Amino acid sequence: MPVIVILGGGFAGIAVARRLEARLHPDEAELVLLSRDNYTLFTPMLPEAMSGELEVRHIVTPIRAQLHRTRFVLADVDEIDVLHHWLRYHHVLTRRSVVQSFDHLIFALGSSTSDFGLPGVAEHTWALKTLEDAELLRNRLVWLLELADTIDDEERRNRLLTILIVGGGFTGVETAGETGELLRSVRKFYARLRNRHARIVLVEAGPTLLAGLPPKMGQYARTVLERRGIEVLTGDGVASVDESGLTLQSGRRIESETIVWSAGVKPSPTIAKEEALPKTRRGAIETAQDMSVPGFPGIWALGDCAAIPDGEGGLYPMTAQHAIREGPHLAENLAAVLRGKSTKPFRYRTLGMMAALGGRKGVAQLPGNRVITGFAAWFFWRTYYLLRLPGLDRKLRVAFDWTLELLFPRDTAELRFGERRDPDEEMAQRP
Ligand SMILES: Cc1cc2nc3c(=O)[nH]c(=O)nc-3n(C[C@H](O)[C@H](O)[C@H](O)COP(=O)(O)OP(=O)(O)OC[C@H]3O[C@@H](n4cnc5c(N)ncnc54)[C@H](O)[C@@H]3O)c2cc1C
Repeated sequence: MPVIVILGGGFAGIAVARRLEARLHPDEAELVLLSRDNYTLFTPMLPEAMSGELEVRHIVTPIRAQLHRTRFVLADVDEIDVLHHWLRYHHVLTRRSVVQSFDHLIFALGSSTSDFGLPGVAEHTWALKTLEDAELLRNRLVWLLELADTIDDEERRNRLLTILIVGGGFTGVETAGETGELLRSVRKFYARLRNRHARIVLVEAGPTLLAGLPPKMGQYARTVLERRGIEVLTGDGVASVDESGLTLQSGRRIESETIVWSAGVKPSPTIAKEEALPKTRRGAIETAQDMSVPGFPGIWALGDCAAIPDGEGGLYPMTAQHAIREGPHLAENLAAVLRGKSTKPFRYRTLGMMAALGGRKGVAQLPGNRVITGFAAWFFWRTYYLLRLPGLDRKLRVAFDWTLELLFPRDTAELRFGERRDPDEEMAQRP
């Protein structure tokens, strides 16, 4: 029986596995899915989880609950031989190393934050890509408030209360909006901060926010954020980052101890190691329009780690919207290959894009390039993503979180999970 191995349990990997389960008879192929987390993260709600509007656990869905007969392995992939069809992985919990052979391999490993090789970015910035990032960043923001409320050094307090967000795309814009909401909601608990605003600065290298979308969307997002006191700097990229702030290409310097990096992503580092595969300059696996990798029979790729031609001279964008459509299509093509039939090119027209700006405001591009803004867009965003969140239990939990948020301020409990960048002694050393 042919063995089909899927790498990655995100939007793309799960979508392929589910359609393969439905399309193939159990004795037609053995299905194996490897992923380093045992859940799928619903990234569109990650900024809200970061700001404490949503409980982090409510935006993840266990992989095992989404699959029926695919064998799930909680593992990290170490080495892949795409020519001889075997790979090596290690179990995340036991670190036991295993070699797995395959007939078909599907790359759905997603992406990771890209620092574009700029000095200091990897060491001194915070990402918002994983569930852990969201939890660490929220703790950091609460920690900043606690420390700023404690110290007497005015200069340091100003630096602590300056939060920089780099990248004016969807993630950066939503993160800026949600950070503003979190700080506004809890400021009243900090006596010494009550009468002062934290400074939030959104930095974008290009001339507008939400580049590549109708200009009205970027303009509206800017107006809403600025009205809430968030500074928006466009047309000036980051040159370097260090522990006390960043320097822009213009030479301008902004002091801050919390810089959130949402300036871009690159395909998973695991793929960078696969030298045999054809890749774009950005590092994504080049596929044909049917998502097979030319010259490598049995190798397929989709989602953020793939460069899939859109048939009009471009590539499909790296979004969940596309990944969940590519998955079923790839599964149909793979089933066709197993049955000796021909594959079909993937064709999809982007439905639109949306961003929630916090404070019940949003901006959305609808089919036909129509743009809606304000409460209507925010409501549309919430309804659409609530319906898209996998699992009825998750939908109910998120709806409940949103209802509670209407009545109560955000939670300021600082939960010390994982690694903290600032050792506890710092409070004592820097009064
Ligand atoms: C904050 C944020 C907000 C976003 N908002 C939106 C939005 O509103 N709308 C939208 O369409 N898109 C949005 N996106 C983009 C969207 O999340 C991605 O395009 C989508 O997740 C791509 O799906 P994927 O399956 O290719 O990758 P992922 O969902 O990233 O899944 C990759 C999987 O591979 C696993 N993996 C990686 N490396 C290994 C390894 N070596 N071994 C084992 N497993 C591994 C990972 O753990 C993960 O489970 C957002 C992204 C972010 C970060």
